[in-house]
Amino acid sequence: MLMRSLATYVPACAPETRGAVILELFQNAPDLTLVPVVDDAGGAVGLIEREMFFLRIAGKFGHALFAGRPVSLLMDARPMVVEASVALADFMADTLSIRPSEMQNGFIVTENGKYSGVGSILDLVRAAHAHAQRSADALRQVTEQLQAANDRISRDKLFIDTVVQNIPSAVIVMSAQDRRLAVVNRAAEKILGLARADMLGRELGEIFPAEEGVACLVRGDGASGSEDEQTIQDQDGNERHFVTRQTDIADETGAALWSLCVIEDVTGNRQAQARIERLAHCDALTGLANRSLFGLVLARMCAPGGSGTLLIIDLDYFKAVNDVYGHAMGDHLLRLVAQRLRSVSREGELIARLGGDEFAIIWSSAPAPDELARRANGIVETLSLPYVIDGQHVVIGASIGSACFPVDAARSETLLQYADMALYRAKNRGRNKFQAFTAELYDELQSRVRNERELRNAIATEGLLLHFQPMYRAADNAICGCEALVRWRHPGRGLVAPDEFIGLAEECGAIHELGEWVLRAACREAAAWPGQMKLAVNVSPVQFRDPKLALRVASVLAETGFPAQRLEIEITENVLLNNDSANKKILAALSAMGCSVVLDDFGVGYSSLGYLGSFNFQKIKIDRSFINDSSTKRARGIIQAITGLARSMDIPTTAEGVETAEQLSWLREVGCAEVQGFFLARPGPADMIHALLNAS
Ligand code: C2E
Ligand code: MG
Ligand code: MG
Repeated sequence: MLMRSLATYVPACAPETRGAVILELFQNAPDLTLVPVVDDAGGAVGLIEREMFFLRIAGKFGHALFAGRPVSLLMDARPMVVEASVALADFMADTLSIRPSEMQNGFIVTENGKYSGVGSILDLVRAAHAHAQRSADALRQVTEQLQAANDRISRDKLFIDTVVQNIPSAVIVMSAQDRRLAVVNRAAEKILGLARADMLGRELGEIFPAEEGVACLVRGDGASGSEDEQTIQDQDGNERHFVTRQTDIADETGAALWSLCVIEDVTGNRQAQARIERLAHCDALTGLANRSLFGLVLARMCAPGGSGTLLIIDLDYFKAVNDVYGHAMGDHLLRLVAQRLRSVSREGELIARLGGDEFAIIWSSAPAPDELARRANGIVETLSLPYVIDGQHVVIGASIGSACFPVDAARSETLLQYADMALYRAKNRGRNKFQAFTAELYDELQSRVRNERELRNAIATEGLLLHFQPMYRAADNAICGCEALVRWRHPGRGLVAPDEFIGLAEECGAIHELGEWVLRAACREAAAWPGQMKLAVNVSPVQFRDPKLALRVASVLAETGFPAQRLEIEITENVLLNNDSANKKILAALSAMGCSVVLDDFGVGYSSLGYLGSFNFQKIKIDRSFINDSSTKRARGIIQAITGLARSMDIPTTAEGVETAEQLSWLREVGCAEVQGFFLARPGPADMIHALLNAS
């Protein structure tokens, strides 16, 4: 940068001819001011300056004197020579201060002693100026960059500051060395109850001398990454929950510089969580424990080493209150029941509503049997006292079943099952009773379970059979039809009568399959009977819970080819209990198909005359208990009333259970259209019916 190299021109010239060459050079290159002279090895030997050159050879005299002579006569034989590696500043300082006059003639630059270029004072001044200019530019640039960086840092700091200040969690940073607070944001001021100015720069122990209250939130001595939850009381004495997270900030060597503490007020979350838990475990209507909490407490009681008593309570006649007075009243009643249960319970006992009108109590002890009975009967009595709701007196009852852990059962599921069994028994004993689980109850349950299994098996494997009992026309004693009566061919017990298993089938739901089997088998059989012979089939009220009952009947009729017009469906008035509209629909559908609907066992049960009006029955069967008693005046009165009523409604009557000739002739007299009974024919297998039909 320092020199403009002329070396390229020079070495080509021999020293003897240089004079001419230089003259030419200076004349043709007006900007050339200096010409160096070098030897053959490249060493600088001298320097010729333009002004000097022209001065010397300008005149004729000079020209004559110098033109033919060696160039060395014109040159400065002791020029200033400088190595290219010398710094400009040093060279300048040196030459300008020590030998300024020598600079006039310029200087030669060498590299390792060899000529490399030539420079003048002007070059130096220019170079120095350019250097200064560049330095100034660089300085300005650096200053500007610094300013921009400063601005950016200020902006970033403001940004980070604003963010930190506005973070909803409390942020506290303290020095790892002396635990002086360096950063405290707004949320931290609020939680700690101090102004930032009162905390910044001060030591933690100085601000919070006691390790209690808010102070324990910022101990700053937890492990890095640790998370703590603390509950403290605020100034108003309210509980507040905080989660504190601590993180150490280290330098590149891993030494801790700062301790960052983030505190979050999770009071709202915890309260919501607690509310959700309460709701999840609480029966909304009564405020008692719900089924889910009951399950948890029961499981805890039935853990190894535990003991306790489970009581299941079912209200008697609650459904009636609900039906008669409405749901609002029912709800009110349930709340009063809950209140009474609370009033009879002791500390630590759990009262739960399991749903509907079913409650449960868990005692954490298993008292002796008489103490258990005393307390449980007390609860029955308390719940049976009249309730006053909106000025109305309401009376219900309660049945209670109990089971003790671990005496009665080893697992919570079984305990619950046994308490339920005891409750079922209490209800069967006539309601408003308490029943504790006993070994006998267990045996009963076992045999019930066995019976149920055997019955289902019998239904599935042709273990049932049908007997048929003829029905006679009273007028001429001719067989007009037969009633199908099911029997169970039991491997151990022989032929079992329907009264012994229809109830079980109804309870366990097997009645649907059983009923369909009976209908199919009966229709198949009856399809072979002559003429207008009717077939009567008993259908249980439980079968009416199946909305497809009419469809099933239709499909069996289609399958067996038995005409609907010859089928009599015998139902009891239970089917019409509560004026069930769904059941009436099914009855109407059966009627529409052409089947007859017969009211069986009339006179016992509710015998509401309303039922007679609510459906168009084809026949009424007077219960055999009246026929049995028909020697008494009372029974005769009842039979006459029924036949009279039926006649007035144009409904024929059948008398069932006719056992004597007297009964038969009297029943004819009072106008029964049909008769059925042992006196005429006992129920028997299908073959017997064939024999009878062939004989008549
Ligand atoms: P039910 O429908 O009133 O049937 C008449 C019952 O009276 C039959 O008893 C029959 O054997 C009995 N019986 C008939 N004549 C006399 C008599 O002169 N004296 C006496 N003491 N009894 C007589 P069974 O067969 O034991 O049936 C009892 C009940 O079981 C039936 O009463 C009926 O309600 C029910 N049942 C029978 N078969 C079925 C069935 O397939 N399905 C349903 N759901 N119930 C059935
Ligand atoms: Mg019947
Ligand atoms: Mg009957």
